[in-house]
This record gives sequence, C-alpha cells and structure tokens, in this order.
Amino acid sequence: MLPTAPAPASARARPGAVLAVIGAGAAATVWLWWHGTPPFGGFGDWLTNAGRITGLLAGYGVAVLIALMARIPPVERGVGADRLARWHSMGGRYTIGLVVAHALLITWGYAVTAHTSVTHQAWTLLDSYPDVLLATAGGLLLVMIAVVSARAVRPRLRYETWYYLHLYTYLAAALAFSHQFADGAEFMTNTAARAAWSALYIGVGAAIAWYRFVTPVRQAFRHRLRVTAVVPETPGVVSLVIGGRHLEELRAEPGQFFRWRFLTRDLWWTSAPYSLSAPPRDDRLRITVKAAGDHSRALLALQPGTRVVTEGPYGALTGAVRRHRKVLLIAGGAGITPLRALLESLPAAPGDLTLVYRVSSMRDAVFRRELEELAASRQAKVWFVAGTRAELDGNPLTGADLARRVPDLIHHDVYLVGPPDLTADVTQELRGVGVRRRQIHNESFEF
Ligand SMILES: Cc1cc2nc3c(=O)[nH]c(=O)nc-3n(C[C@H](O)[C@H](O)[C@H](O)COP(=O)(O)OP(=O)(O)OC[C@H]3O[C@@H](n4cnc5c(N)ncnc54)[C@H](O)[C@@H]3O)c2cc1C
Repeated sequence: MLPTAPAPASARARPGAVLAVIGAGAAATVWLWWHGTPPFGGFGDWLTNAGRITGLLAGYGVAVLIALMARIPPVERGVGADRLARWHSMGGRYTIGLVVAHALLITWGYAVTAHTSVTHQAWTLLDSYPDVLLATAGGLLLVMIAVVSARAVRPRLRYETWYYLHLYTYLAAALAFSHQFADGAEFMTNTAARAAWSALYIGVGAAIAWYRFVTPVRQAFRHRLRVTAVVPETPGVVSLVIGGRHLEELRAEPGQFFRWRFLTRDLWWTSAPYSLSAPPRDDRLRITVKAAGDHSRALLALQPGTRVVTEGPYGALTGAVRRHRKVLLIAGGAGITPLRALLESLPAAPGDLTLVYRVSSMRDAVFRRELEELAASRQAKVWFVAGTRAELDGNPLTGADLARRVPDLIHHDVYLVGPPDLTADVTQELRGVGVRRRQIHNESFEF
C-alpha cells in the first residue's frame, strides 16, 4: 500500500467568528450612515434616510453573498460548503428585500420631498441619473436570480441552468457599484468611506478571481490529474481513481470533497462535487460516483486517461470536528463515500469506531468487502441496515435501535451523511436519546 499523505494542520475559520465578522461589517455600515446623516426633517426625509440605510446594507449584503461563495479555503474547511450555501441562500433573501426596499423608499422619499408622484419621481431618477439606470438593471437581475432560486422554481430547472443564471450576481454587483459612489450621500465627501468600500469590493473580487478561477488552473498544471482506473462497484456506481503529481500539496483530508471537471467533449463545461472515498495519497485520489442524473451517469463511461481539473478540497466533515474518543458514522446511500474514507483514517482504539450503513438492499451496498476488511483491521463495528421500511417493519434507525446497537451512544461524535430525509430523521432520533446537536456532524449532498 502507498503511504497516506500526511495531514498537515490547515487553518479553519470558526462559524461563529465568520458570523461575527459579517455582523461587525453590517454594524460599521450602519455607523457609516449614522455618522454622515444630519438630523432628519419631515416624512420625506425619514423615507429617504430609510432608503439610504437599506441601500447601503444591500450593497454590503451583495459583497457578503459573493464572499460566501468565494471558496476561501479556511472558511470552506471551518464552516462547511453546505452551511455556507445555506447562509448564502438566507442572506440572498434579506439582500433582495433590502434592494427592493431601497428602491421603493428612496423613490417615495424623493417624491414626498419634491411634491410629485412616485411614478414621476421614478422616471426622473431613471432618466437623469445613468448610474441609477445601471443599478436598476442590476437590481432586476438580482430579483431574477431570487426567482429562479425560489423553492417552487429551482427544482424545475436543470442544476446547470440555475447555476449559470446565478453567475449574473457578479454582473449585478458590477452594475450597481458605480451608483453607490456616484449617488450615495455617504461616499460623496467621505474619502475614507470610499476607500473602505472599494477595499471590500476589490477584496471580494480578488478572492473570487483567485480561488474560483486561478487556483483550478494552477492546480491543473501543477497536479496533471488523469483518470487512471474506472472500477465498477455496484450497479450504477463506479469508483474513479485519479492519479497526479504532488497531491500532498492539496492538503486534502478524508471526509472532504472536490469539484471535479472531466475534460471530455460533453463534460468539460460543468463540474460536480464528489467526496473522496478513500484517504488521499501522494499520487492518487479516489472518488465513487452513483448515477443520479446526466452528469453522474456519464462518469460511468469515462475512459482511463481522461484529464481532470479540480477545485478544492472543500468541506468541514473531517477529523478536526471530533470532540469524543468514540465515533459513530452513519451513511445513507451515496453518503457512504466520505464515511468510508473516515473509517479508514480516523485515529481510534479498537472498538471506538462504529459504521452504520443504510441501503435499500444489500445489492446496493457499495464497498461491502472493503468495509468488512476495514472493520477487521481497525477492530471497528460495521452494521449494514438493508431493506425498505416496509420490509424492515418501520424505521430501522430509531434512537432506541441506535442506543441498543451502540453502547454509550451519548459519548460519541456522530458523522451523518445521506439523503436529506434520512439525515433529518436520524438527527431527530439521536437528539431524542440525548445526543447533543454539536456532537452530530453532517454534510448535505445537495446545495
Ligand atoms: C458536498 C457533496 C459531496 C458529494 N459527494 C458525492 C459522492 O461522493 N458520490 C456521489 O455519488 N454523489 C455525491 N454528491 C452528489 C453529486 O454531486 C450529485 O449526485 C451529482 O452532482 C448529480 O449530478 P447529475 O447532473 O448527475 O444529476 P442531476 O439530476 O442533474 O442533479 C441531481 C441533483 O444533484 C445536485 N447537483 C447537480 N449538479 C451539481 C453540482 N455541480 N454541484 C452541486 N450539486 C449538484 C443538485 O441538487 C441536483 O438537483 C455530492 C454532493 C455534494 C454537494
């Protein structure tokens, strides 16, 4: 066996610290408005000022939304890609609300002050201020992105369509930027505020350019990844062994995932996330893919030799989140992949590791032999739970079942990866038998 790459200590941003930084930025934005605002006069002035503060916070919100998706390694490792995606989605809703409130309040405020109608004032603003027109186009783009991301619409779109429409956020931010300086009262005379705001936007832009564009290209030249083997596992599931150079420099850890782009004629334009299904080695990585749709199905037919470009590693589901000596790994379906890598690599004394693997039938149990071998070599317990709920007479993973099978359950860290329904159910069951929220670590396979 080749030596496992050393796992160097990698910087991780704590979720609380990231939220504190975001909150401090929002507070500084409010202060900027407060500091530059003379005492209010009548109703029009109140409305205009409400429009200003919502506009400033919207400008700040857009920068934060983009920064959350910049794939900054310590943030990805410390917070986790799925939690970042959730924050991005929730922050997106607030930001769109602020954008719309800004447009309405400021137009209404100016209309009240100028004793004219709101529609007339809106027309004047669009007609006389080119930056307002550009910013309005940016705002409409943001609203379009919010619409395609809404729960009722998103499942109807192909992932790639939704993803590429989402990239218009960059255009929206660029369109609105000059409006902030040209028309924002807070920036007109305050050079320090302009410098700080520019630094925010330039910093976020640089992070996006570096981590999302330069880094994958740099990694492609440095590591020269290629598929070296395609190994069928179970019907509809293959493992891809991907060879390359200097892979220890990636500092990947078991439990993490990469975004993979396979350079074939049909697949080069899209990348998809897959977890490492074995601990990373200096010269090769392995992923295991279940056919779920067009992209993943195409991977079943990949040829050895195919060039691969990656972004990553990402994800917080690593040994670093562990607090207890004993660990319970619970996998549902394709969720076995990162847990298989953790089963092999988490430091543990005999008896400290237990894996529960939920599958609809033993035919679908991926890595069956590997898991049994690992169980024997690591003196871990592996429990396959196979069958439909009807065959198993209800939920086979109740808190009582888990507590019976895993003595001392409440003193375990639980790593849980599987379909959303399963993770939600199992989390509730675990909480019901006294496992604390912070002992349960999960990563969603859906963003
Ligand atoms: C962090 C993470 C790790 C994953 N690890 C594995 C793994 O080890 N093995 C495995 O078989 N599957 C894994 N998945 C799931 C896998 O990425 C999807 O099944 C795959 O992308 C489906 O793509 P598709 O085009 O074949 O199917 P589609 O039917 O087009 O997509 C099915 C669903 O997959 C999700 N999806 C599709 N493309 C992407 C994308 N580019 N980025 C994010 N989500 C996408 C969307 O929610 C979509 O609705 C992982 C997903 C995530 C988020």
